[in-house]
Amino acid sequence: MSESSDDTKIRIVKIHDGTVIDHIRAGKALEVLKILGITGKDGNVVTLAMNINSSRIGRKDIVKVEHRKLASAEVARIALVAPEATINLIEDSKVIEKTRVELPDTISNVVVCTNPRCITNKEREPIRPNYEVTSKDPIQLKCLYCWNHIEEEDIISQFTR
Ligand SMILES: [Zn+2]
Repeated sequence: MSESSDDTKIRIVKIHDGTVIDHIRAGKALEVLKILGITGKDGNVVTLAMNINSSRIGRKDIVKVEHRKLASAEVARIALVAPEATINLIEDSKVIEKTRVELPDTISNVVVCTNPRCITNKEREPIRPNYEVTSKDPIQLKCLYCWNHIEEEDIISQFTR
């Protein structure tokens, strides 16, 4: 793969098992770590590289976390801050699974509508929030119930609270 031959010139610590999140938009690696609740205090190796040249997305960040697999809810959140990311699952120092994060045109749940009067925020209404992805860079969502627009910074602040 020509894309990865370019990317693998970067020599950062290899992990024996865990997860490598590659092709994170430049500057977003710290948000990804926060989304995953990774503080580095659990003693596992965490490697972070920022502003690496990428043939696919220009500049990118990479996060490697040892002894960690991602839950699907975490992947759904990562898709909203790093929609081009690829997630590599590492076992015995080999990539055993490579998946590309997907940001669909509409999403449900994941994000809370920032309009407090939105019906999806009424406790007695069991309505799942639904959003249209109106922009992918920067990310912007439109609530399909109240038409409120939710900006990327609101999404990130919800995820990293
Ligand atoms: Zn709403």
